[in-house]
Amino acid sequence: MAEERMLKFVRTGQQYPAKRDAELRAEDFREIAERYGVPAAEEQAGRCSQCGVPYCTVHCPLHNHIPDWLRLTAEGRLREAYELSNSTSTMPEICGRICPQDRLCEGNCVIEFSGHGAVTIGSVEKFITDTAWEEGWVEPVRVGPARGQSVGIIGAGPAGLSAAEYLRERGYEVHVYDRHDRAGGLLTYGIPGFKLEKHVVMRRVERLREAGITFHHSFEVGRDASLDDLRAKHDSVLIATGVYKARGIKAPGVGAAGVVEALDYLTAPNRKGFGDAVPEYDDGSLNAAGKHVVVVGGGDTAMDCVRTAVRQGAASVKCLYRRDRANMPGSQRETANAEEEGVEFVWLSAPEAFEGGDTVTGVRAAKMRLGAPDASGRRSPEIDPGAEFQLPADLVIKALGFEAEDLPTLFGAPELGVTRWGTVRADGKTMMTSLDGVFAAGDIVRGASLVVWAIRDGRDVAAHMHAWMREKGRIAA
Ligand SMILES: Cc1cc2nc3c(=O)[nH]c(=O)nc-3n(C[C@H](O)[C@H](O)[C@H](O)COP(=O)(O)OP(=O)(O)OC[C@H]3O[C@@H](n4cnc5c(N)ncnc54)[C@H](O)[C@@H]3O)c2cc1C
Ligand code: SF4
Repeated sequence: MAEERMLKFVRTGQQYPAKRDAELRAEDFREIAERYGVPAAEEQAGRCSQCGVPYCTVHCPLHNHIPDWLRLTAEGRLREAYELSNSTSTMPEICGRICPQDRLCEGNCVIEFSGHGAVTIGSVEKFITDTAWEEGWVEPVRVGPARGQSVGIIGAGPAGLSAAEYLRERGYEVHVYDRHDRAGGLLTYGIPGFKLEKHVVMRRVERLREAGITFHHSFEVGRDASLDDLRAKHDSVLIATGVYKARGIKAPGVGAAGVVEALDYLTAPNRKGFGDAVPEYDDGSLNAAGKHVVVVGGGDTAMDCVRTAVRQGAASVKCLYRRDRANMPGSQRETANAEEEGVEFVWLSAPEAFEGGDTVTGVRAAKMRLGAPDASGRRSPEIDPGAEFQLPADLVIKALGFEAEDLPTLFGAPELGVTRWGTVRADGKTMMTSLDGVFAAGDIVRGASLVVWAIRDGRDVAAHMHAWMREKGRIAA
């Protein structure tokens, strides 16, 4: 019976949930994909061939039990599918929405390699957990017996929140400090609603609050307390602050009005979505309505910016990237979505100057060509002499990626070890930093990475912190 429901990839084609029409979806910030109905989810899950060595799981940073919950879904045992999927992840419905599955599980699905099109793992994952929320199967966090020890977590992004959940389950008192006024990190203020609607994040945060985790919002470590203050207050501390120093562009005119940072630009509509007052949005400085927009960069942040500009009613949206499509770091799926929505990509181009004086009116750009591969294996761009061009622009968004802030200085902790990139140095086995009882996880250790890796780090670091605090408690007893 079970076998009849599986291995259907030969006769059942790959079918993602329908995307809303590009013109219509560009009018709002709602997610672009519809959700499976039960029959479609069961049918698509049933395409899985139940591999003995499931490459999907191997390539999932969380090692989710993918074939097992696909089988349960195909058999109509949705609650069990949810429980299994939830057992390895604190946020499966968020991963289902925003993981780059084409590079992880789906990109390594054997059915993809055999030419039948991967099992639509992410869409099924989203379906299972959204259903669980609706059906009331998502249970409160099971808080373990109180241990009389507390942890301080700096940063309420996916790494900090995942660690908070696992530590609370183990009976610790958990305090989460964040400089923003809401939890979620980049899930809340960076990633746009058309990829991840905010109620999806907020219901996760609420569940943690209900479990007795204390959130200290608008609390910036370095301003409102030093790292030492938190170390004195808690038995151990986790640094999960992400990376926020925007990479700059060295070109004349870069300081002109109208040349803005990607994260400022993306945060504004996310705040508006919550109903916050955002003067820079209302006065037009962080709003693309009616403007000719040029976004510089080729990563996921750049894709989020161009698609936000479309939704704000820009007169035109161009993405300037110095390599070609095949060599861009952003997801191909997001690039295709952007193209459908009317974004124009200007490949092999880099800005040379921002023109117009005090307020930007245009970009002078150089044509590039690709030379030999660099250390990362990607071909390095070099200027193609004599091939300059101009683009009109009254809003330029710099989206060249992020680096770590100078935490030893910010935190008043010069003895906190960092790498030459400024990321926090953490022991590969214990995830502890150079400071006793201070651990680190997520982007602040890896550099700009992915939500799924932040969740994985949160899970791992909670186990390490638990082991360390148990030992500390034993010695003190
Ligand atoms: C625009 C954009 C789009 C992205 N899209 C995707 C995507 O589609 N899929 C994907 O997998 N990944 C995506 N990413 C990457 C992903 O968001 C990050 O890898 C992930 O959020 C890292 O989690 P984190 O918990 O380490 O840090 P963050 O999510 O950055 O959270 C860190 C938290 O620490 C807080 N903080 C920082 N300093 C302090 C301080 N001194 N005191 C108190 N609090 C502090 C911050 O306010 C923040 O809330 C995207 C990133 C960006 C910028
Ligand atoms: S690799 Fe594809 S076919 Fe194999 S178990 Fe994973 S989802 Fe199923």
